[in-house]
This record gives sequence, structure tokens and C-alpha cells, in this order.
Amino acid sequence: MHEVFNQPPPLEPCDLFTGDAVLTAAVARENAGWAAHDLAALGALLGTPDTIRLGFEANRNPPQLRAFDRYGHRLDEVEFHPAWHRLLTIAMAAGLHSAPWAAPRAGAHVARAAGCYMLVQVESGCYCPIAMTYGAVPTLRQSDALAAEWLPRIFARDYDPRCRPAAEKTAALIGMAMTENQGGSDLRTNTSRAEPDPGAGPRAYRLRGHKWFMSAPMCDAFLVLAQARGGPSCFFVPRFTPDGARNAIHLQRLKDKLGNRSNASSEVEFADAHAQLIGEEGRGIPTIIAMSNYTRLDCAIGSAGLMRQAVAQAIHHAAHRTAFQKKLVDHGLMANVLADLALESEAATVLALRLARAYDETDDAAAVWRRVVTPAAKFWICKRAPALAAEAMEVLGGNGYVEESGLPRIYRELPVNSIWEGSGNIMCLDVLRALDRMPEAAAVLRDELAEAARADARLAALVARLERRLADRAGQDETQARAFTRDLVLALQAALLLRHAPSAVAEAFCAARLTGEAVGAFGMLPAGTALRPIIARGAPAAA
Ligand SMILES: Cc1cc2nc3c(=O)[nH]c(=O)nc-3n(C[C@H](O)[C@H](O)[C@H](O)COP(=O)(O)OP(=O)(O)OC[C@H]3O[C@@H](n4cnc5c(N)ncnc54)[C@H](O)[C@@H]3O)c2cc1C
Repeated sequence: MHEVFNQPPPLEPCDLFTGDAVLTAAVARENAGWAAHDLAALGALLGTPDTIRLGFEANRNPPQLRAFDRYGHRLDEVEFHPAWHRLLTIAMAAGLHSAPWAAPRAGAHVARAAGCYMLVQVESGCYCPIAMTYGAVPTLRQSDALAAEWLPRIFARDYDPRCRPAAEKTAALIGMAMTENQGGSDLRTNTSRAEPDPGAGPRAYRLRGHKWFMSAPMCDAFLVLAQARGGPSCFFVPRFTPDGARNAIHLQRLKDKLGNRSNASSEVEFADAHAQLIGEEGRGIPTIIAMSNYTRLDCAIGSAGLMRQAVAQAIHHAAHRTAFQKKLVDHGLMANVLADLALESEAATVLALRLARAYDETDDAAAVWRRVVTPAAKFWICKRAPALAAEAMEVLGGNGYVEESGLPRIYRELPVNSIWEGSGNIMCLDVLRALDRMPEAAAVLRDELAEAARADARLAALVARLERRLADRAGQDETQARAFTRDLVLALQAALLLRHAPSAVAEAFCAARLTGEAVGAFGMLPAGTALRPIIARGAPAAA
């Protein structure tokens, strides 16, 4: 029998909250310190071997479409593994789908963001219906009648997986269908049609058409974009009609996806489905985009969470595995790689949590953060994340390439956050549009960066470059939208780290990311960088 040695112990149980120094500090700083107790309980629960196993099971046993029953009647149901249901039970019990709306208070969106950041580290697919339900609330509130009927169900925390009329269930989840096969970015090309159905109520319509992506199709209702006579309009489409019949939402097939495999993403046909208009005819895109800002925030939070887990696994492995008579972490070049990964993860985390705070606040600065920084953060965090995951995987060597390590799942999952809810280019163009429409944004961002720029010449130089681009309208050159957005995010991340992180972290980030050094791959931090304290800060603490 061969001897097994020099293999690291599994990183479990793992305390995802108190074991994460960057997260706990960000939660306290961004006004959610009051939630620390509950977050610690959630982090401990998520990090148990049992919960971690659920994530593996839910992905190893992807959902199955049951389009028809044995006699040929339409069912349009999706069957999930029990692990999926248990994960959603945990997520909803923690209020991750709606707590900031159900119990608003300073820091509520930050507290929820921290919970989601931990959830995705165990399983990301179930985050999809959680994020869409959270994002749907502001749009639903545009209809008094729908809000009165549906918000109590959405605020409830007892997950109910049954395919039943929502009135019979303990809680409800909401999905969204905008994308059609001819276009997902250019929503004006939508061809689904909506005709008024006055017999069914004053704002009732019948929906006909096809959607190319509709994720989490077992949700209890969906926000759907379709063409009415007045133009693209936003509709609320429940799974069951008001008289209790199954609505004509026909699931055609489920996508065979790169990652996100625990979650179902369907192609769907609306065959005269019952729908209710939200907002005005022709105003559907701004109405439904109110939801997209929240789901874009969630893409940034989700990717930051996955980055954290990848880095935690990498540092843990390197601390236990020996090569050439030394722990991997004690080899100079590996230390450079690990420190660089930890820097990227910390920068993503502090930015995502700071951004979440903007959703708790109502002043002008918060409005600029929500409108300008949300697409910028989504672009850059989601763009950096797959590269980080690949490098973290390599730290584990061959073990990292094997499913049991969890790294392949993280790696496969990450690109979706960059693609959906506005792909990279669309986010960067949106940043330019937002800056154009918010003349006050430049001054707000300048204020945000000023103090830190005074303390660091490299940041000051970057801020000056951003200012010039804004002033001479070169910032409106769409060919440069990615470069501009990257620089804006790097400046915000550097400013946050200079203000709040240990000096070793802030100094290394500025040296590596603001000067053009250390580009091309991780592990190129300049000579003299204080690698050890950065790694120590990123190391996961045992439960
Ligand atoms: C797993 C998964 C789940 C999804 N779930 C849902 C869901 O539940 N509901 C839903 O409605 N949609 C969903 N989507 C769809 C997703 O939102 C779209 O795929 C996305 O918005 C891009 O649209 P598209 O695929 O039509 O690509 P296109 O719009 O064809 O874009 C293709 C590429 O061109 C770029 N591009 C487009 N216009 C421009 C321009 N003007 N300048 C420069 N570049 C441009 C884009 O950035 C993108 O990279 C999901 C997608 C995935 C992968």
C-alpha cells in the first residue's frame, strides 16, 4: 500500500467570516458592524464540511428539465438535487435575497453583500435566483398592486421549492428574461410581443415570444421585456395565472453551460402568457434596468467572493505542501505569486463592499458610486477574476486541476459574471455614458480620490491622467473605454487601500498596479515588496 504524505489537509471547517481579515474589516468600516454576529454564524455554517459538500453535490448533479408529464401534458418544471434546495434554504434563511428591503437600515446592503460573498465561496449557482430576487424589488415597487401582493412573499425567509401558485407558498423568488437570440445587449431588438388583455384586468397583457436565456426558471415570477404598442415594456409574469392555472411559460431546453452547472438556464417560449405591465409602455428598458444595477453589483460581489476562496485555497495549500525541502510558501517566487493574488483579492473585496455601501446611502456621492462605479467595478473585478483563478489553481499544481479541489468549479464559474447583465464592453460604454449624463460625477470622484492622491505620487499621477481624459473629452472616445474604466477602478482601489489597508498592502498595490510594472501575469511584484505580511493577511484562519 502506498504511503500518502506531503498532501495538505482540506481547508475545512473554514470560518468564512471571522477567518477573513479583509472582509471583517470592510464590513465594520462600511457601516455593517452590527451584522457581524449573524455574519459570523453564517460564515461558520457555510464553512462546515457538510455545507461545502452540498456545493459539490449540487454541481455534480445538475438540474433536469421535465417539460412534459408521462401523458404528454406540459409540466415546464425543473428538478434539482436536494443539495441545491438545502443551499437555497440557507441563503434565504440568512435573508440574502431581500433583507435590505425587508429591514432597511444603515449598512443593510453591505451586510447582505458580505453574506453573498461568503455564499458563493461554497456554491455560486444558487446565487443567481438570490441576486435576481434582490434586484427585482425596486422594479416591483413601481407597481403598488404588485408590491402589495408580492413583497411580503419576497421578504419571507422560508424557502419553498414547490411548483405551486405563490399564494400557497411560504416564500417566493423572482427571475428575469430580457435576452433574445438575436440580441442581449441591444435590447431594442426584442421581438416578443405583448397585447393588452383588458378582460383580465386594467394592466393585463398576453405575451408571445421567445427568450434565449432565462435562468432559474423555477422562480415564482419573472420580469420580462417585450414589445407593446408603445415600444419595449416591462412585464411581470407569474408562474401561475390569477385563477391558479399554469401560466403559458414553456421551457424549451436547458443550456449546457461551461460552469454555473447547479443552476438551470432555460430557453423559453411565452405562448400568450398572462402578464402585468410595470411602469409605462415604451419605458421597459429603464424600468428593468433598475434591476440590472443591483444584479451588476452582485456580479462584482460574486466574483470578489470567488477570488477570495481561490486565494484562500492557494495560500493554504502553499503553507502545507513541501517542494525542494521547503514549504511552497517559503519559496521566494511562490511568495511573490501568492502576495500578488492576495493583493488582487483584497482590492476586489474592498471595492465591492464600498460599492455596496452606496446602495445604503442617498446622497450625491452615493448616486455617482451607484451609477458610474457599479458598471466599472463589474467590468474590472469580473475581468481580473478568471486570470486570478487560473493562477490560484496553478499554486495547487496538479491537485488544482482536479475537481475535488474546488478550483476547477471556481474557474468555470467566473466568466459568467463578466458576460451576463452586460458584458465587458457594454459596462465600459455605460461608464462613459454615465459620466456624460452626470456632470457632477467628476467632482465627486475627484473628492473621493483627493486625500489618498495627496499621500501617494503614483496615485496622484493616475488621477491627473484621468482628469485630463475627462476634461478633453478623450474620455468619451469609445475605443478607449476599457482603458479608462480600468484606470478609474485602479485609482479607486488604490485610494481605498491607501486609506484602510496595512501599508504593506497599499504600497505593493500602488507599486504593482499604478506604474505599469507587474503586468502580464501574477507574481511580478517589484523587488523589495514586503511579501510576507500580505500573504499573512490573505491567509484563511482555521475555524
Ligand atoms: C449563464 C447565463 C445566464 C444568463 N441568464 C440570463 C437571464 O436569466 N436573463 C436574461 O435576460 N439573460 C440572461 N443571460 C444572457 C446574458 O445577459 C447575455 O448573454 C448578455 O447580456 C450578452 O448578450 P448576448 O449574448 O446577446 O451578446 P451580444 O449582445 O451579441 O454581445 C456579444 C459581444 O459583443 C459586445 N458588444 C455588444 N454591443 C457592443 C457595442 N456597441 N460595442 C462594443 N461591443 C459590443 C458585448 O460586450 C459582447 O461581448 C444569461 C447568460 C448566461 C451566459
